[in-house]
Formats: sequence, C-alpha cells, structure tokens
Amino acid sequence: MIYRNKDFNSPPAALTDAKWNTLKANLIIEKSSHKVNSKCYRDTTLDALALLYKNKCAICERSRGTELQVDHYRPKKPRNNQSQTQYNHSGYYWLAYSWSNLIPLCSICNIKKSNKFPLKGWTNTNRISDHNNIYGLNPFAPYDLNWLQQKEHPLIVNPEHDILPERHFSFKNDGRIIGRTDEGKETINICKLNRKDLIRERLKIRENYANAIKSALDDYGKHTNEDELKGELTAIFKQIKSNCHVDKEHSYFNLFIFNYYDYFIDSKLPSNLRGVSTKYFNAFSKMSITSN
Ligand SMILES: [Zn+2]
Repeated sequence: MIYRNKDFNSPPAALTDAKWNTLKANLIIEKSSHKVNSKCYRDTTLDALALLYKNKCAICERSRGTELQVDHYRPKKPRNNQSQTQYNHSGYYWLAYSWSNLIPLCSICNIKKSNKFPLKGWTNTNRISDHNNIYGLNPFAPYDLNWLQQKEHPLIVNPEHDILPERHFSFKNDGRIIGRTDEGKETINICKLNRKDLIRERLKIRENYANAIKSALDDYGKHTNEDELKGELTAIFKQIKSNCHVDKEHSYFNLFIFNYYDYFIDSKLPSNLRGVSTKYFNAFSKMSITSN
C-alpha cells in the first residue's frame, strides 16, 4: 500500500454537480434506508481515482485498469451478519457520496473487504454512527477525515490519510506480506493479501530478477568479460530501482527487494553464484543514493 495525496477539497466537478443536490439531501434524511446511486459516486469519480492511483488497487497495488471498482473506505451500509459478528457496525450512510471516502480497489480486494470496518480494540465506543455526531457537517461539505480517523482508529489502513502506510507492512522472500502493526495485520486479514494470486505475482517479480541475474552470471562464466557483466547487472538493478517508483505496480514489494537484495535475490541464486552480484549491487545502490 502506498500513500496517495488526494485533495479532499477538490472532488471531481461531476460529483459536486448541482443535479445531485436532491439526492444528497435525501441521503441525510433517509439515512441507511437511502438507495445509494452508483451513477453519482462511481461514474463521476472512477477516472479521477484511476488517475490518482495510476490504475492500481489502493490496497494490494495490483495494476488493474478497467477492473478497478470504486469502494467506500467506510462502508455505506450497516453490517449485521450472523457470522463474524466482530465486524458488525451501523454503517456510514452519510459518506456514500464523499470524495474522501472513495478509493479504487481491484475486484478481489473489494469482495474480501466487503462492508467490514473494525476499529482498534474491537470496540464500537468510538464509532461515529450518525452524521449528527459530526460537528458542522452538512450534506454538501467535505467532512474532516483527520478528525474521524483519530476519533475512530480504524483497523483498515487508509492510503489517503496515513502518509506512511508502508510502516504497517513488510514482506518475506516467499512472497508473503506481514503486518507490523494491528492495522497492518487486520488489513491483510480482511483483504486476504496473502491470497494465491498476489503471492504468485510477487514471486514472479522476484523470480524474473533472479533469473536475469543468473543469466548475466552464466554469461560471465562463459566469457569472463567483467565490463559485460557489470553492464548487464546494472541494467537489471536500474529496472528494480525504477519499479520502486510509487506509480509502478507492486512498488512497495520492489522496494523491499531493492533494500534487502541479499535476502530476496542473492539467497535465491544457485550456491556457486551467490555473493558475486551482491558486490556490484552494493556499489550500484551506494551510487544511486549519492546521485539522488
Ligand atoms: Zn487489490
């Protein structure tokens, strides 16, 4: 998960069009019984969200383009399930059309997240369950996300509020993501971020780098041309570094590979090739830090 700097005070013009005023006013009167209109919250925001997130899922960082769906970070409807009752809550109807409550998710994260929204400590005592509890709210004004986040302490990390969402997560070289905080653990648990498709994608990234490096080392074994080896390895290292950019798919996993090269890449090479590329990587890494 990567931080996205969304300007909460500048929603897409289509979302604030006066033609939705009656709908938004009705929402505040009808509350949870309001029939939410996806044309208002989804069709007006999907392009802007896809642009802001570079077509990536806000939670798992898969690049999904047209598959992206607009999710309500705080679920619009109450949850009153018979199973997993710890996730039940009274819903956030008043945020159904709020720009700061809309995030793009891939279809799988969206299904897994569903309308779960637990708070720290698993208590509902801090939960805001009615728009009247929010100071100064009217149906057309942006609400104060900072206030709400600090009041409720949600267990699902918010990529638009937490400026370092990465601090909640780390990765293992078997492709698993690990929660470093309660929020990280629960986000992983709810969205199933160790599901097969994601593990497969992360392992593929790591394997592609390791295979390219193995191939460069094999070439060196045949030609013993050090300039050639250095050139091939540098091209691969540049690729890893470039894929750490926040706009790239799985950028945070790539950053872990870059920061822990020995653990993610060198340890996966055949034993007779280990250590050789690390020397070149360390020199590259040092140079790229100096040149930044
Ligand atoms: Zn996802």
